[in-house]
Amino acid sequence: TGGGKPLRRVMLKISGEALMGPQGFGLHPPTVERIAREVQSVHEMGVEICMVIGGGNIFRGLQGSAQGMERTTADYMGMLATVMNALAMQGAMESLGIHTRVISAIPMDQVCEPYIRRRAVRHLEKKRVVIFAAGTGNPYFTTDTAATLRASEMSCQAIFKGTKVDGVYDKDPEKHDDAVRYDTITYDEVLQKHLKVMDASAIALARENGLPIIVFSLDAEGGFKSILAGTGVCTRVDG
Ligand code: UDP
Repeated sequence: TGGGKPLRRVMLKISGEALMGPQGFGLHPPTVERIAREVQSVHEMGVEICMVIGGGNIFRGLQGSAQGMERTTADYMGMLATVMNALAMQGAMESLGIHTRVISAIPMDQVCEPYIRRRAVRHLEKKRVVIFAAGTGNPYFTTDTAATLRASEMSCQAIFKGTKVDGVYDKDPEKHDDAVRYDTITYDEVLQKHLKVMDASAIALARENGLPIIVFSLDAEGGFKSILAGTGVCTRVDG
């Protein structure tokens, strides 16, 4: 990931789909547990960890609105879906003995904590894993943007985007055998070439705040740890 000093505080962004495992929908507890162990191995390195989990395995606002729902209502449903995923991940993390807090952009006191920046920072300092739920709290945004926003607010040194592929390619590697992976790429190239790393507003926000985005595969066991140790395969977006 560029070598140098080990990172102190990072953001891990995963899509909701990463939690559905072989099912094609919803939550697959063994898969949630597997990802929790990936996070555990990095937590054990002493790294402070923020997480944002999408909601696409349960509900996406755009899908709802395409079927006739009001967009804002559909987006709130999408945000609620991310809270369910966050609770599932919290349960898996705590069963591994890792103190974890879910912090929601939409207050729901009986379920999790409301977002208060200083309190979230304090949790991180105490080595609690903090899962930011309910996106940004606003419709028309995505959890990629939420991850970039919270990473900036928490002074994370990088965003780690765990996906199904081990980096950013010039074309879809699942469809083209001759697709080539970038080791590094700039924010501007990602935007100009319409590469599917994160949505454009998230990339722009990361660029403005000088936050590198590291795209890696969450499918490989020990993948997250090897990326943090600087040995794994990934693509680094910055500069
Ligand atoms: N969403 C939103 N505002 C936000 C974040 C998310 O309205 O700040 C809604 C939006 O409808 C989105 C859904 O929540 O489709 C789930 O998030 P996302 O699509 O980013 O999940 P992922 O694709 O990462 O699983």
